[in-house]
Parts: sequence; structure tokens; C-alpha cells
Amino acid sequence: MEGIRNLFNKYDIKYTTQREVIFDYLYKNRNHPTADKIYKALSPEMAGLSKTTIYNTMKLFAEKGLITVINTNEQEARFDANTSNHGHFVCKRCGNLFDVNTSHLSIPELEGFRIDNYQINLNGYCRVCNFIH
Ligand SMILES: [Zn+2]
Ligand SMILES: [Zn+2]
Repeated sequence: MEGIRNLFNKYDIKYTTQREVIFDYLYKNRNHPTADKIYKALSPEMAGLSKTTIYNTMKLFAEKGLITVINTNEQEARFDANTSNHGHFVCKRCGNLFDVNTSHLSIPELEGFRIDNYQINLNGYCRVCNFIH
């Protein structure tokens, strides 16, 4: 990816080829993959890649603010290269994870507050699954 070294530099992350490949995958796959999914996608091309490496890399990326860890009700955390404030909806039936635009969210109790960060995790049945359920 063009400028990845600059991006890592900006977030105080030491550049390695492995980190670039992992970030590149997450950046291009906006379906909020789990570490397992990333591992399965990348391991055929990367000798010596382990799931632990993926976890540790994601942990580092998240600590530095490059990515967001989404704690869903599922067993495994999902990862998001989109760090702008938005919510997530996980469908219990099909397992799809949807981004939710929360920019119009208004909470009367927080009138006058400045919110810097938040996580909104919703779950239930998506439109399709709710219809056929
Ligand atoms: Zn669904
Ligand atoms: Zn998202």
C-alpha cells in the first residue's frame, strides 16, 4: 500500500512486511474479520505466520489507535480499520456485521457533554433474517 510506512510512522508503529500485509488485508476487507479469518486468508502466502502473531499485531494496532477492536457477543473479537465513531449490529442468525451510522444519535442526558469515543454494539436479527425467521 502506498504510504504505509508513513502511516505506521504516524501511529508510532515499527514497520515490518508482516504488519503491512496484515493491515493491508484489514483495510481492504471491510467485513470486520476475526483473527481466525485473517489467519486463514493470509497463512497460505506467509510462511511462519501464526494466529498469535495476528492477535498480537491487532493488539498493537488497536493500542496505537490504528484500528478498532469490536467486542461483539460472539466468541471472537472482530477488527475494524475504520476508526471513525460508528456503531455495529451483529445478526445472530447469519452472523453478518453491519456498520451503523450513529452521527444522528442524540442522548438527552448527555446534553452539553463532549463525547470523544464510544462503542455501540447491537445484536438481533437483520432485515432479511427477521423476515424469514
Ligand atoms: Zn441476518
Ligand atoms: Zn465498523
